[in-house]
Amino acid sequence: MSNTDYLLALENVSVSFDGFKAVNALNLYIDKGELRVIIGPNGAGKTTVLDLICGRTRVSEGSIKFKDQEITAMKEQKIVRLGVGRKFQTPSIYEDLTVFENLELSIPRGRDVIGALFWKRDDAVIERVKEVAKQIFLEEHLDRLAETLSHGQKQWLEIGMLLIQDPELLMLDEPVAGMSVSERAKTAELLKEIIKDRSVIVIEHDMKFVESIASRVTVLHQGKVLAEGDMQTVQSNPKVKEVYLGH
Ligand code: ADP
Repeated sequence: MSNTDYLLALENVSVSFDGFKAVNALNLYIDKGELRVIIGPNGAGKTTVLDLICGRTRVSEGSIKFKDQEITAMKEQKIVRLGVGRKFQTPSIYEDLTVFENLELSIPRGRDVIGALFWKRDDAVIERVKEVAKQIFLEEHLDRLAETLSHGQKQWLEIGMLLIQDPELLMLDEPVAGMSVSERAKTAELLKEIIKDRSVIVIEHDMKFVESIASRVTVLHQGKVLAEGDMQTVQSNPKVKEVYLGH
């Protein structure tokens, strides 16, 4: 199959840290509009895979293609501009700014000083902020300082700050960690909404949550794909039970 069929293709990707192969000849293919969950025990290489995709860590061997473009050696900022958004576990929002301001500040202003200088809050900006705020369940909270939001709302705000940049691929590291049950359910709803026009990769430990959202699950172990498929197939795989679930 040609790479043109995938939004993202990792082929034979490896990375070593001091001789230790954290990712080992990994093949991973993500379709357009796909929601993929990556699970695996601690140290399996999940975070490193996201670091490799967004250019934070350099690949030692192999190739990464996004929208059929080689991004293997590309700088992180360029990969972001191509349409890859990444959310880390700890929210990086501006606590002393409002929800509106956090979202507004995340709208790309062009690459040059001129673009930033002539930035103004016009109707299109206000509309875009409101549209994203609605999607992340914060339309009633636009004037609130971010520091007053619940932990879950902060996580949504950060997802919103990525969505407003219009990425084609969104990568989320444990998005529901520390969330309440109702916040988790709403996050599942949000992810299903997002994949109507984007792809999402999620690293997650919460199996109940994974079951509620996953169309396809990849189990990583020792930097390799151990199993792939829907949650049921993966859970009943004896190799997965052995290394991951401890049975
Ligand atoms: P996971 O996210 O699945 O828990 P990681 O991707 O964080 O796993 O780590 C995979 C392995 O690579 C671990 O053994 C970790 O210690 C190692 N590792 C990750 N990043 C680095 C780094 N920058 N330097 C050295 N070792 C690292």
